[in-house]
Amino acid sequence: MKDFTYIGRPARVVFGAGKLRELPAEVERLGARKALVLSTPERRAAAEQVAALLGPRAAGVFDKATMHVPIATAREACEYAARIGADCAVAVGGGSTIGLGKAIARESAVPIIAVPTTYAGSEMTSIYGITEAGLKKTGRDDRVLPRTVIYDPELTLSLPVGMSITSGMNAVAHAAEGLYSATGNPIIDLMAQEGIRALGLALPRLRTAPGDIGVRGNALYGAWLCGTVLNSVDMAIHHKLCHTLGGSFNLPHAETHTIVLPHALAYNAPAAPEAMRRIAGALEARSAPQAVFDLAKDNGVPVALRDIGMKADDLDLACELALQNQYPNPRPLEKAAIRQLLQDAFEGNRPAS
Ligand code: NAD
Repeated sequence: MKDFTYIGRPARVVFGAGKLRELPAEVERLGARKALVLSTPERRAAAEQVAALLGPRAAGVFDKATMHVPIATAREACEYAARIGADCAVAVGGGSTIGLGKAIARESAVPIIAVPTTYAGSEMTSIYGITEAGLKKTGRDDRVLPRTVIYDPELTLSLPVGMSITSGMNAVAHAAEGLYSATGNPIIDLMAQEGIRALGLALPRLRTAPGDIGVRGNALYGAWLCGTVLNSVDMAIHHKLCHTLGGSFNLPHAETHTIVLPHALAYNAPAAPEAMRRIAGALEARSAPQAVFDLAKDNGVPVALRDIGMKADDLDLACELALQNQYPNPRPLEKAAIRQLLQDAFEGNRPAS
């Protein structure tokens, strides 16, 4: 076994159908009295229900969370939090809403309770992002790690099937890259494999029975494990490419991850055979890149970048941008091969075995 460093970050997780009802007790546990509830505009009604559940412990609802945390929104949210004297933020939503909670926590050190309603995994990480003048900066700060996470599968029942599949694939991407991470370790490998296994079983069932609370619970369980992997070890070429495609070409987050992942795995396969064996094993398949491609395609979500708004003319620039910074990746960054990776993702080709 190779040497490694393992860092366990604190996480209090309350998991189960209906567990949202424990939110008031969790707010109390933090010693907070004025909770600010956060959501996207579309999820305002859900946020208001949460505020009603909190009763006098709810100080307000801020419903302007949006993708990639624009700095103007973060500032407005911080000002609102200060104005109402919030001593805790309850983020009810996906990565965008939890990201806004993180921006507030960084600014004012109020603790966050995360109530995730997608499978993106932000609730498990100390990674924050903020977008200013079209540029998304990300970093790590332990102050933004939610103090409590309530995983209640009932809150994911409303997530449309297509978004459920792509969000689940986003989670699989964290775990898959964790398995060949330069900072990987055997403990995180266990979580990564189990996360991929849980989502590999849940996603096809989500398509056919999206209202099955047991299946929703399994998907959230997988998402939790995959989010822990994202927090614990460094990611590689797949996340770098998705960051570039999302940030510079405004492509949707979860769909981009879904489409790029099989091709990033095919690129790295020759240099990471053990990771590929584990990913394929978790999906009960022979080829990791093909199994991941099939998991998306067979469940009816886009598998080609051209189908989600990417332009062929921008592929060269995307390749240049992705190569700008060097970062650890099992296979060295080779310009021609990365350009081909992007072409395959653009066309939605099934990776060769
Ligand atoms: P999202 O939070 O942007 O949500 C997508 C859409 O789904 C929104 O319109 C939202 O209102 C809606 N939605 C969410 N939950 C719903 C539900 N249960 N029912 C119906 N609609 C629902 O999407 P996301 O993929 O969860 O998050 C993407 C963002 O999170 C990106 O900005 C990404 O960079 C960030 N992210 C950050 C981390 C991190 O560790 N910091 C990890 C993953 C993602």
